[in-house]
Amino acid sequence: MSATFVEVADRVYVLRRHLLDVNSTLIVGDTAALVVDTGATAADATELVAAARRLTGRPWSVVNTHHHFDHCFGNRTVAGDPPAEVWAHQEAARLLRRPVEVIRAEAYQEMAASHPRLAERLNQAAVHPPDRTVTRTATVDLGGRTAQLWHPGRGHTIGDLVVHVPDADVLIAGDLVEQGAPPTFDDAYPLEWPDTVAEMLRRLGPASVVVPGHGACVDAAFVQAQHTDLVALDWLIRQGHADGAPVDRVAAEAPFGPQVAAVAIARGYAELGNRA
Ligand SMILES: [Zn+2]
Repeated sequence: MSATFVEVADRVYVLRRHLLDVNSTLIVGDTAALVVDTGATAADATELVAAARRLTGRPWSVVNTHHHFDHCFGNRTVAGDPPAEVWAHQEAARLLRRPVEVIRAEAYQEMAASHPRLAERLNQAAVHPPDRTVTRTATVDLGGRTAQLWHPGRGHTIGDLVVHVPDADVLIAGDLVEQGAPPTFDDAYPLEWPDTVAEMLRRLGPASVVVPGHGACVDAAFVQAQHTDLVALDWLIRQGHADGAPVDRVAAEAPFGPQVAAVAIARGYAELGNRA
């Protein structure tokens, strides 16, 4: 069955993929559209384009919520022909302007053990870096409505960008919020992530729709619960570091499970060590 966008709010559509359970979002205005995250592969992105073109003939621009391959390796397909602007946070754009071999190698290594065939394809992928950068905020006019691009702080990566559609009360969170699997910390800032999510929560009301980077759409209560876990993890990292506690021992009691938490704790310890 071909990929299908589902309308989650007025003219805001989410495509949830089988591959890595990663989401792309399409926002349609009167004169233009916006595609948020382009998927992991050219094949993925080709499906995205076909599904989006069944909903709108408007020209679109593209946003990458961050630099991880599953959110931007479809850029060439979605934004190449006809050429479209690609927005990202300036740090995500910087990372995607590194040599293509470096970017591919990171994606390959991440997937080599769990998805070897995908990893091989990632190692050949075209990388199409963003050409429009955001430091803190930017507004994209779609005709009769706007999408606000916003960096609420560091968290999942150094350059997370979220997209707020105020008239539809939708927030597209990238991997700052994850449903169906724990957040991932390989490139994360675990001591800053809680404040970043708190910033996002200030924009959410009881009826808001939040599109996570992976999994099903959630609400403010879900984001609040994830915030509580991130705060607990942050506290354990600071306490463990002060006590000189080994990572594994702290991870055993941490939210998100010991394996995921161990990555976060190691990164948090390194950051606290650098500050000292
Ligand atoms: Zn990610």
